[in-house]
Amino acid sequence: MRNHLRLILFGPPGAGKGTQADMLSARFSVPHISTGDMFREAVSRGEPLGMRVKSFMDRGMLVSDDLVIDLVEERLKHENNKEGFILDGFPRTLNQAQSLEILLEKIQLPIDAVINIEVPEEELIKRLSGRRVCQGCGQNYHILFSPPPEPGVCAKCGSRLYQRDDDKEEVIRRRLKVYQEQTEALLEFYERKGSLHTVDGSGSRELIFSRVLDVIEKELNDYIEVAARDRIDKK
Ligand code: AMP
Repeated sequence: MRNHLRLILFGPPGAGKGTQADMLSARFSVPHISTGDMFREAVSRGEPLGMRVKSFMDRGMLVSDDLVIDLVEERLKHENNKEGFILDGFPRTLNQAQSLEILLEKIQLPIDAVINIEVPEEELIKRLSGRRVCQGCGQNYHILFSPPPEPGVCAKCGSRLYQRDDDKEEVIRRRLKVYQEQTEALLEFYERKGSLHTVDGSGSRELIFSRVLDVIEKELNDYIEVAARDRIDKK
């Protein structure tokens, strides 16, 4: 019986991958691995890696495959991933997807499912341009759809909210174009492997979460049973 959850959350920028990954991570106690978050942390800590990637990120361009693959490899090898992991924002190119396959085969942790969150382009632009992020804990807000109780202040940790440089309109358009040109083709890659599941990414985060859970329940229902049992045991 399956006692792990290894997922890739896939979709364009603004589809809600980070939010759904956070919710899944809290629900199933598996780590959320976001390459974008890892790069932002490296930038804010002033690390050499951050200096190498900042200008790409600010312009909405992809960071070179080598850098991303090394980062993920390090994380997947060293972190305790027994219970699984949720990849968010990786892979983004065919080369990354192929390298991930080889790595996971080597460490014997194959992916259980790829969940593609589908959202129309106009909606993505609205979501990204209104997004605000907590500089303390990384919690996401939206100025219209999920504003914090006190404007500009995180309800979870009290830190200030900011707008990511790459959430400005001109960069958003570039990121969506980069997605179409370099990332979208991966849908076919995972479709051919039989691991792709697409969910409607419109509506509230809770509604989208219930669709994601439906996929997990349908495709990986032996895991859900174990997870539910574990939760009862741990109480
Ligand atoms: P995200 O938060 O996932 O939208 O990522 C923010 C930025 O980090 C992207 O626009 C890229 O510049 C960089 N990045 C994150 N993940 C990757 C990846 N898998 N491949 C290349 N660049 C990435």
